[in-house]
Amino acid sequence: MNSILDGQQQAVEADPGLNILSVDLECWEQLVHRKLTNQLIPCSESLVRSTSFLLNLFREKDVRATFFVVGYVAEAFPELIRRINLEGHEIASHGYSHLTIDMLSPERFREEIRRSSSVLRSLTGDSVKGFRAPEFSLGPGTHWAMEILAQEGIEYDSSVVPCSGRKHGVAGFSRGSVRLTAGPYSILEVPPSTITVLGRNRLAAGGSYFRLLPYFLIKRIVRRVNRDGFPFVMYCHPYEFSSERLGLQDDVKSRSRLAATALEFKYNLFRKTMRYKLSRLLDEFRFAPFREVLAHALRK
Ligand SMILES: [Zn+2]
Repeated sequence: MNSILDGQQQAVEADPGLNILSVDLECWEQLVHRKLTNQLIPCSESLVRSTSFLLNLFREKDVRATFFVVGYVAEAFPELIRRINLEGHEIASHGYSHLTIDMLSPERFREEIRRSSSVLRSLTGDSVKGFRAPEFSLGPGTHWAMEILAQEGIEYDSSVVPCSGRKHGVAGFSRGSVRLTAGPYSILEVPPSTITVLGRNRLAAGGSYFRLLPYFLIKRIVRRVNRDGFPFVMYCHPYEFSSERLGLQDDVKSRSRLAATALEFKYNLFRKTMRYKLSRLLDEFRFAPFREVLAHALRK
């Protein structure tokens, strides 16, 4: 299948002073459990509590975000999705089952998009405009996915990391937003933010960077991306703001103790600094959802 990624690309200007805030709404316990055991457990109630923390913080700071929602989560907690929507945030898709694209055939990927869009539309009444691939897994071998997104009516994607990686990344891709066009199809790509270190682009939009770096360095990264002429495209997850320690069930630990302990350690390390860091960022920079920052470039 030809890829729209190999077609025409047109740079899309966006105000570098208005940054993009996004939340990937997924259940940490469910996804890590599946990674270690191949078994699917129900979404944890702790996700509702940590998402409520974020919603309250956003209300206090008077800021709206884009929530990329996993289909499993929307089915488990429909009231949570309705609340996010009612509070003025944008609901977008993070796939149905959070399987990375390299694990899916084009047919199964199309099914993921249709199913997740349908679940979300049934809860909000609005069609889904945006998509982000689980683990930014649009990369070598999965360029075909972009064509399917455009065919399925997705108007923008935020999955392409402009760097070379094993699972994710498209080397040489634009760091700023571009409109991709091939034949009758067109889609806007809004890459998560990267910074150039020693001549190489590195993903610096959230995740372990944000957990491990002190606030003053995060602030410097945001400023640098803005100085380069781009809005900062940030992502975070509710579990990073949980008041409880992230932990796996005992049966996972008894089966793969080393891997489970390593993952618990990795995701809890400096995690408690995230509340303070996000709060400071929202005080010091302007943030908005994708649909607002890129309103001029999206279809009317
Ligand atoms: Zn995810």
